[in-house]
Amino acid sequence: MKKKKNIGIVAHDNRKKDLIEWAAYNWQELAPHRLICTGTTGKLIEDMIFEKCRANEIIPPEIVRLKSGPLGGDQQLGALICEGGIDILIFFWDPMQPQPHEVDVKALLRIAVLYNIPTASNRSTADFIVSSTLFHKQYDPILKDYSAYIKREVDLL
Ligand code: PGA
Repeated sequence: MKKKKNIGIVAHDNRKKDLIEWAAYNWQELAPHRLICTGTTGKLIEDMIFEKCRANEIIPPEIVRLKSGPLGGDQQLGALICEGGIDILIFFWDPMQPQPHEVDVKALLRIAVLYNIPTASNRSTADFIVSSTLFHKQYDPILKDYSAYIKREVDLL
């Protein structure tokens, strides 16, 4: 992953306040990177960070807004991870309430583990990620070799 990171950002409704507070506190850390968010989360992040950048005369970051989570946004993020389009995932999921798109949530978390993507599900972990010296450096995560799985599929044909 390059110095400029592609950061996936998602928060469930009960965690949006928490996420926006965290992002507002860390907006200067986030501003040099590219933020790829689910729909509603992205709108909240965009409003907050553009305002901060305007007030401080800083070029705002590129913010990509995918579909809303329940409408497929989590799946879009998962697909981007598979294609190497996400370097870090900040995903504040709700530990207290089931979601209509629970299977997508689980799938996104699984893909993030599979592709060795640094993932924060709470503020402390997100703080550790943005304050890491690796956050603004080039970093190449080690990927497990899953080629044996592909072979097995071929053998089954
Ligand atoms: P949202 O989606 O950012 O559009 O609210 C997040 C989610 O609920 O997964």
